[in-house]
Amino acid sequence: MNDRLRERKVDFQDLKDQFKRELKVEFPQASEERLQAMAQRLLNEKLLADEKMARFPVQHENFRPNLSLTTQDRRYKEYFHPGTYVWNEPEKREAWSCCLNFGHSSRGCEFRVQNPDAWCYQGFERG
Ligand SMILES: [Zn+2]
Repeated sequence: MNDRLRERKVDFQDLKDQFKRELKVEFPQASEERLQAMAQRLLNEKLLADEKMARFPVQHENFRPNLSLTTQDRRYKEYFHPGTYVWNEPEKREAWSCCLNFGHSSRGCEFRVQNPDAWCYQGFERG
């Protein structure tokens, strides 16, 4: 167990040295201290990424096309202004209170997603 731990540590040191060599090429002006710090950060990031990969392995099966998703998605965005179109004193003209857009018929600054297929379903329920 101790041997394995030491081996791991040596591996990390090798990796860190490798990072440092690469960083030195990329940042020839950087001080030894800075290279050391950058290499340590890269090593930490790599360890975190490795841990994540171990915990959430990529499921390659998921890349196969899923037949249930081939039906067309007809959802669309509907833009609207959440505020009101009122007289704006500082600007001396009417504007939307939410985004200060002057055009009454301007495209909304927020949107909601409409799903026509969901409407059908609602109508079906009501009937
Ligand atoms: Zn708005």
